[in-house]
Amino acid sequence: MDINKLSFNPSLCFINGKWIQPHRGKFIELTNPSSGKILCKISRGSSEDIDHAVKAAQNSDWVHSTALERGRVLLKMSQMVLNEVELLAELEANDVGKPLTQARGDAIALARYLEFYGGASDKIHGETIPYLKGYTVYTLREPHGVTGHIVPWNYPMQIIGRSIGAALAMGNTTVLKPAEEACLSALAFADIASRAGLPEGALNVVPGLGSEAGASLACHPGINHISFTGSEVVGKKIQAAAAKNVVPVTLELGGKSPQIVFEDADLEAALPFLVNSGIQNAGQTCSAASRILIQKSVFNKVKDMMGEKYRALRVGPAIDDLDLGPLISKRQKEIVLNFLELGKGLKIVAKGSISRNAPETGFYIQPTLFEDVPYDHKLAQEEIFGPVQVLIPFDTEDQAIHIANSTSFGLVASIWTNNGARQMRMAKELKCGQVFINNYGAGGGVELPFGGVGRSGHGREKGFEALYGFSTLKTIAAFHG
Ligand code: NAD
Repeated sequence: MDINKLSFNPSLCFINGKWIQPHRGKFIELTNPSSGKILCKISRGSSEDIDHAVKAAQNSDWVHSTALERGRVLLKMSQMVLNEVELLAELEANDVGKPLTQARGDAIALARYLEFYGGASDKIHGETIPYLKGYTVYTLREPHGVTGHIVPWNYPMQIIGRSIGAALAMGNTTVLKPAEEACLSALAFADIASRAGLPEGALNVVPGLGSEAGASLACHPGINHISFTGSEVVGKKIQAAAAKNVVPVTLELGGKSPQIVFEDADLEAALPFLVNSGIQNAGQTCSAASRILIQKSVFNKVKDMMGEKYRALRVGPAIDDLDLGPLISKRQKEIVLNFLELGKGLKIVAKGSISRNAPETGFYIQPTLFEDVPYDHKLAQEEIFGPVQVLIPFDTEDQAIHIANSTSFGLVASIWTNNGARQMRMAKELKCGQVFINNYGAGGGVELPFGGVGRSGHGREKGFEALYGFSTLKTIAAFHG
């Protein structure tokens, strides 16, 4: 793809409805993970750019818009995203390294978030509260003001959709700091928003390093809410920065999510979910099912079924649209290889293969399935963020629950069983934000509140819950005798 033919200049910041040079005139080189070659340069935004963006957000006309007007603009943005799905998918594939089909799915999800929140913006209201004689009491849902959004590189379009879409729908104005590893779709999104008629200052995008633009945004006193998606280490810094300004923060962090397979499950139905949940986006998914817990009586059967699927997996350049693309960076590849080193001595069931078309300079890795891993092993406890899954055997339901809850993360989990009572019991016992029964991910529905417990973070995005999170409640008690 020819980056020079885009309708915006990717090396600029988008502030107050205008494309501008970063204040300090510094840039970062963006790499295409499939080739390891430089894709283009992006802004290395600084505290001055963040300050400019926050001021633009504070003065935006968006705050005066009605809920109906906001909904209409978001719906228009949704339609424009749909019209430009192919371009967005190609950008994301080149930038993130995800196979085209998966990138296309992310662009469609972005449109769906905008559609959902566009439709919801005039359907969220307060309530009246019966109270003492002579009083009328009601509540108002009001926007926080300026919301800061710091997002990672793995699903930029989806995460922008769920967090910026909901924040704008509630009448907030936004400053977005995309990841330095992949930010082209964030800039394309700003371009679409501007063409759709989103008022100046409602969305500002400042690319840059986490330690510079990201840190400046997190501690800026003009920010009234921070939504952060990313690693636990950085999440803690964001929460500390938010605490200094006493502003609320939503943290969407990592995971080590289990799928639990019982002997009475429909194994054929489970199989594609068991594998895809681990290798989608080359395993760089917060809700990846990196642990597969299998009841001992069917352990070998499930292992063989998954092994066969793994051997057929093909890894290659994003544009070739195989099962997996490369990892995002050389650094990420090293992290995953270090985890694989820790697995030395453990049995490997199967690996996928890297296509001949994959350049040596790209960041490719073979998807790897480990057998019979002790549940307290590092491979079964820590987030790897690569295409690596571990199989863990168990005997009883109690054991399965104990193992599933044994990590300090708690994002999602799934249970494969046809025993209804067990489904209900386990859904209550599992410590996480979403439980799936006889599926995994439920198609990623934008309607479904999402978020974690423990080291996976706190607060909820997606669904109506996000609208509550991106607003604050005011109670009005009128005495009229
Ligand atoms: P990361 O924490 O390194 O970076 C995320 C964002 O934070 C980037 O934009 C980065 O520039 C910024 N950042 C880095 N240092 C910062 C600082 N000091 N102050 C402010 N901002 C800073 O995470 P990553 O490696 O890009 O993403 C992978 C992680 O994200 C994984 O742990 C994954 O599980 C998690 N994730 C979670 C979800 C979810 O919804 N729960 C979704 C996707 C990814």
